[in-house]
Amino acid sequence: MADGSQPQCCVAGGGPAGLMLGYLLARAGVRVTVLEKHADFLRDFRGDTVHPSTLEIMFELGLIDRFLKLPHQKVERVGGKVGETPVTIVDFSHLPVREKYIALMPQWDFLNFIAAEAAKLPTFTLLMNAEATDLIERGDTVVGVRVKTPEGDRDIMADVVVAADGRGSKLRERAGLAIEDIGAPMDVLWFRLPALAADVGDTKALFGAGYLLVMLFRGDYWQCAYVIPKGSLADVKAEGIEAFRNRIALASSFERLRMDTIASWDDVKLLTVRVDRLLQWYQKGFLCIGDAAHAMSPIGGVGVNLAVQDAVAAANILAKPLKAGTVGLEDLRQVQKRRMFPTRVTQAIQVAAQNNIIGPTLSLREQPKPPLALRLMQRFPVLQRIPARVLGLGVRREHVADFIREGRG
Ligand SMILES: Cc1cc2nc3c(=O)[nH]c(=O)nc-3n(C[C@H](O)[C@H](O)[C@H](O)COP(=O)(O)OP(=O)(O)OC[C@H]3O[C@@H](n4cnc5c(N)ncnc54)[C@H](O)[C@@H]3O)c2cc1C
Repeated sequence: MADGSQPQCCVAGGGPAGLMLGYLLARAGVRVTVLEKHADFLRDFRGDTVHPSTLEIMFELGLIDRFLKLPHQKVERVGGKVGETPVTIVDFSHLPVREKYIALMPQWDFLNFIAAEAAKLPTFTLLMNAEATDLIERGDTVVGVRVKTPEGDRDIMADVVVAADGRGSKLRERAGLAIEDIGAPMDVLWFRLPALAADVGDTKALFGAGYLLVMLFRGDYWQCAYVIPKGSLADVKAEGIEAFRNRIALASSFERLRMDTIASWDDVKLLTVRVDRLLQWYQKGFLCIGDAAHAMSPIGGVGVNLAVQDAVAAANILAKPLKAGTVGLEDLRQVQKRRMFPTRVTQAIQVAAQNNIIGPTLSLREQPKPPLALRLMQRFPVLQRIPARVLGLGVRREHVADFIREGRG
């Protein structure tokens, strides 16, 4: 059990999962230290979707009004085109939550906001420029973490170490936890196109002959995701940047001039899509959450959302035993038990979409027509609420426990 000078919980990784967990535990009065290997939260685009269920968590925590003062765009509906046919796919406007839309916000704004709120709590510590490099074990139990800082290496001991260090998690590798690789037939190329004043600011998915382009409206630009078959970046590059610009002009129907913003391949970032999950998320004194426990496909943009939901579940389950100094293997097992089901179901939906919709679209030679399900959704718009619920609220929605909301440990 940690003495009064040590954190009761040390969280490696200041992404959505790690920072949210740190904040919630500290709000319940647990001494928690979050380690982030970077000096700040500024990164390239890497998941800017704040889903309705995450907005509802912010509401439950009494943070929503201040949070929504940060610049963001609202996505109330997701539409697009299948071939030449315009379609509406998702309608969030009927969800049973306060904020019925996805907020598009740079992830660093989201993280800076949580970090600033957490910094107000006396039991919260955030160490930037602090990289967790190894686990410290006593017998078969993790008792701390080795940390690299600009001032040198140090050991931080804690009752529980949580790996929230993302899909390339070093700590889960050190723990030797087995990974189930589920696979994905695609990769994604991310880039921006300028938005013009006349653009209608809808988020849209454009399915065509051999392509899928998703475009998120970000005010003065479009954040674009162009899906390519797995491992085919070298082939795309071999065709040359001009051919790529032509592909995007065709898919987006934007005038050719806008494509000049894709000046070189440096403007195009590859997301190697990975779908995997740990078979077991924990061992004595150690737990993985967020992408470290399960890398998600970008379909539906649910990675941030699941990471936050994991954090809420982990805080609800662990805060009291951590505070009491009684936390044990069974508590850690309960976190996996709670979160494995939504992870499995969400990944199963993503894999079904990958295999039945996206994979086939990428090999089409002619413009597709909307499938029956989508045609029915246009005829009976009430059906658009079904994907909205799955996407917007997730499979097993978490709520912040009252004792955390109220700051009672
Ligand atoms: C290009 C791209 C686009 C994406 N688009 C979307 C999207 O639109 N919507 C969506 O929901 N999701 C999206 N995702 C996925 C989403 O970003 C992740 O699912 C989500 O951020 C997971 O949160 P996390 O906290 O588990 O991990 P991460 O966000 O990966 O955070 C991990 C943190 O740990 C830090 N870290 C890593 N190793 C260490 C260490 N050893 N010690 C200390 N700190 C460490 C990292 O610097 C990082 O800050 C995208 C991802 C990428 C890469």
